[in-house]
This record gives sequence, structure tokens and C-alpha cells, in this order.
Amino acid sequence: NLGTPLTLYKPTIIAADDITPSQFLSLDRQYLQGMVLAQTGRTSHTLILARSFGIPVLSGIELEALQQLDDKDVFIDAQFGVLVTEPSDDVRHYFAVAMQLEEKNRIRQLKMADLPAVTRDGRCLAIGANIGTAQEAPAAFTHGAEGVGLFRTEMLFMDRDKAPDEQEQFEAYQQVLMNADNHPVIFRTMDIGGDKELKCLDLPSEMNPFLGYRAIRISLNRPDIFKVQLRALLRASAFGDIHIMYPMIASVEEVKQANDMLSECKTELAAEGKDFNKDIKVGIMIEVPAAAVISPILAKYVDFFSIGTNDLCQYTLAVDRMNEAIGSLYQPLHPGVLRLIKHVIDASHEQGKFTGMCGELASDPVATMILLGLGLDEFSMTASSIPLIKNILRSVSKAECEEVANKALTMDTAEEITEYAKSVLAEKGLL
Ligand code: PEP
Ligand code: MG
Repeated sequence: NLGTPLTLYKPTIIAADDITPSQFLSLDRQYLQGMVLAQTGRTSHTLILARSFGIPVLSGIELEALQQLDDKDVFIDAQFGVLVTEPSDDVRHYFAVAMQLEEKNRIRQLKMADLPAVTRDGRCLAIGANIGTAQEAPAAFTHGAEGVGLFRTEMLFMDRDKAPDEQEQFEAYQQVLMNADNHPVIFRTMDIGGDKELKCLDLPSEMNPFLGYRAIRISLNRPDIFKVQLRALLRASAFGDIHIMYPMIASVEEVKQANDMLSECKTELAAEGKDFNKDIKVGIMIEVPAAAVISPILAKYVDFFSIGTNDLCQYTLAVDRMNEAIGSLYQPLHPGVLRLIKHVIDASHEQGKFTGMCGELASDPVATMILLGLGLDEFSMTASSIPLIKNILRSVSKAECEEVANKALTMDTAEEITEYAKSVLAEKGLL
């Protein structure tokens, strides 16, 4: 395991058992070329962050193999899961050509990135970016985002000894709005716990941190921290189009309590003569199966839903998102997960609300037609995936996707659904 923050002096691929999100953020990314990890699952926050910064990662590599990599010349291809040590000249040449092709492809996609995501039959989808720092915002918009569908505010709290105070948070949120150039931003209140530990909060160590003291549970228990964040977000809302979103909601009571604290903050700010958007939109993440099931009830209390498939999949299938050893059981297109997604979208639409998705499934081209067919309103993802997903959305009709989604819902297994969705894409030359 990596110990204290690591300084890099030359182009480096890090090989480690695991690396935490805050360790990743503290790395000198100027020299970070890639990572090879033993344990980390595909939807761990370290991998999500790495994707967002364009750092290729191979995970699920055995510890013994990792130890052999020290000080060797190493090439990795994260897309095809390839690792080569001490490459021959031919292999070096292959990688050089592959990287050039990749770059050409990226530039070609970027040229189309600004076109709106309108299907052939005229359905316009909202496209958001998932980011955790203000610096990521400009790249999100050059990749074709129309807003920030998920700002992971907990990143502001990481790798520091003291939580940021109201003024510091206010300035950070304002900076995000400025970098987002007047596009709407959905700020998710801090989602601490799980694989995101904080030095500045003395969190207890737990047997099952993803099922424990995490996200909204911490916020509701610590109004001293939560209200500081809500006040900062409200103050920033005077300067741009901010939506607030609560993570890991499992019950109506949690939404009510969070909203009560938000109301208290509004009252305080009004009394202090501070500006804020009185009609700020408030939504919740749907990532706990119970929340998905009671979405018709929850829809009464919020303006929007955003489906967090990274957690929804882990909780529904009882498969730890961090554990690569059971990675094959982590199936976001499992019929059980798909039915929950449909239920949530239908519930929101029946009450005139909208549903987005900010889990990694929104960036999986294999899922795009199914999600569009189920009626998803917004796709939010890592910036680099946006051009590809927009291109698929522009190449299909909503009507044909409804047929695809309906057929997928008749299938028995994730594998059947995946193969079917791939075959439809391949027929259209989109895979
Ligand atoms: C999710 O669970 O899908 C999500 C977007 O939240 P996070 O990955 O930050 O847990
Ligand atoms: Mg989540």
C-alpha cells in the first residue's frame, strides 16, 4: 500500500495494492502515466477520478505480479486489459501507433461534441458532466457537456486536516459556476464514507463502510458541518444556476430532515440580508434499492432524481463495487437493476419530474439505447465519454430505443441483455 503522499519525478506508472481517492488526488499528475492496481473495482472512486483525469488504470492484477513491476519499463492498455513489461521494439512501435490512432479518434469526436443530443425523431436529451473539482469544468464543456450533472463536493474536503469553512466553500462553488460559464450545476452534498475517508473528520472504522456511516447519514448527524455546506451552496446560488442533490437517500424522513435544515439555512441567510435563490431546485440520488422502490413517494418531495447506478448496482446485487474478485457479478444491466431504473423513471414522469443518471452506466455505450428507451431525461458522465454517447443518441430514434428497452426487459439475464444491446449497436455500425 502507498504510504504518505508520493512525489513523482519522471513519467511513472504506479503499481499498488490499492490507492485511496485522496491519495490519488495528492499525486503529482504531471508525471502520472497510468496505474496498475490489485484490488480496486471499476466503479471505485479512485478509478472514477482516474478516468476523469484521463489516467489509464488496470485493476485486478495479482499482488505477486505487481511486485515484479518495480523499476521496470512497463506499457499498459487499459481498454484491452494488456500489460507488457520490458517491451521489445515491435511492441513499443505498436503502442506508439495505437496512441496516435487514439489521439486522432479523440480529435475527430471532439469536432462533433458541440452538436446537441437530439435523436432522429426529435427527442432532446440533457447531457451533463461528472466532476469533483472546478478545474475539470472547462474540459467538460469542450467535450460537449451542457451542464454539470454531478459535482462531487466531498472532493473539497479530502486530503486536508480541517473541513473548509463557509466562506471557502462559497468561493469554491462560485469558482465552479464561473468555470462552468453559466451552465447549470448539480452540487451533490458531501458523500463521505464508503471508500472516501476524511482526515478532517474522525470517522469510526467500520466492518461494512458502504453500509454504514456514510453520505446523508453523516450530514444529518452533523448539522454543524452540513448547514455550513448548505449555506455556502445557497449563497453561491445567487451567482448561477445551482441545483442541490442529497446522496444515499433511503427514506422520506431523510429528505424531510435535509429539507428542514435547508429551510433553516434560508431563514438565517434572509435574516442576515444575504442573497440566494429562494426557489433552488432540490433532488436526490437514487442509489439505495428501497429509494428506487418508493420513488413514487419520494417524487412528491423533490424536484428531480439522479440514478447513481454505481451504488444502486452494488446494493441491489449485494456485490461490493470495490472488490474486483467478484467483478463479474457486478452487472448494471441485470434484469433486477433494469426494472428498478424503469420504475424510477416512470415514477418521476408520472409526477412531472425528471430523472437523470450520473452513475457510470450513463457512459456505457452498450446501455445507451436501453436507457433512452426507458425514458431517461439526462445522461451525466466523465467528460471524455460524452462525444461517444452523444453520437449514439443522435444516430437512433427514441421509438426504436423503446422497442429495444421493452425487448431487453423480457430477457432473463444480464448476459442476454448485454449481447442483445451489443448486436443492435453493431447492426447500426455504432460499436
Ligand atoms: C453512484 O453511486 O452511481 C454515484 C454517482 O455516486 P458515487 O459514485 O460518488 O458513489
Ligand atoms: Mg453513490
